[in-house]
Amino acid sequence: MSVLVVTGTGTEVGKTVTTAAVAAAALSRGRSVAVLKPAQTGVGPDEPGDAAEVARLAGDVTLRELARYPEPLAPDTAARRAGRPAVRPHEIAEAAEKLAAEHDLVLVEGAGGLLVRFDETGATLADAARLLDAPVLVVAHAGLGTLNATALTGEALRARGLRFPGVVIGSWPVDADLASRCNRTDLPEAAGAPLLGAVPERAGALPPADFRAAAPGWLAPRLDGVWDAERFVKGTA
Ligand SMILES: [Mg+2]
Repeated sequence: MSVLVVTGTGTEVGKTVTTAAVAAAALSRGRSVAVLKPAQTGVGPDEPGDAAEVARLAGDVTLRELARYPEPLAPDTAARRAGRPAVRPHEIAEAAEKLAAEHDLVLVEGAGGLLVRFDETGATLADAARLLDAPVLVVAHAGLGTLNATALTGEALRARGLRFPGVVIGSWPVDADLASRCNRTDLPEAAGAPLLGAVPERAGALPPADFRAAAPGWLAPRLDGVWDAERFVKGTA
């Protein structure tokens, strides 16, 4: 997959750190990587956004942002309130295709979950994924509530005819509670797609060199890693 769209079951699920892990694993295989953040919200003009955080953790990646809005809101709302143009799906697709011509892997990090509105017509990241015919990776919570949110996201992807290669748990707790432990088995069932990794909690606080060295161990071979889903489900990984 040369373009991979990364969405979440909601906001604050670990999308950026997961994007960084996928980028780091690809870089470790010698692949060139670009990260496209179509709409960055909640960040001032001179502050580092999500794409910069990916580069800080993963290393040498090309960064592209299409729009930045100061308020931490859905892109459509943030654009409207800022009196600035919205980002359209065709602009996202064109930017991703341009990057894909020059990189082995382009990661497109959405804002919040799949159906967050990007413009006043209700366009979403799913529309950009369809224009690109790109697979959509879903980042999910580990614990209680994730089965429903992940099932809904999977259903929305399938209803739109989009490819859904799998789910990455964005923050796997050091002390996993009962729900999280059970979800190792139940999450892929609810998703209708395999688990493709689990990023440990606080991974983003690791020194970048440690993050890069460890990232392939958090991700399945499909994402350039060496993570073993079976061992994880059995609780030994
Ligand atoms: Mg993010």
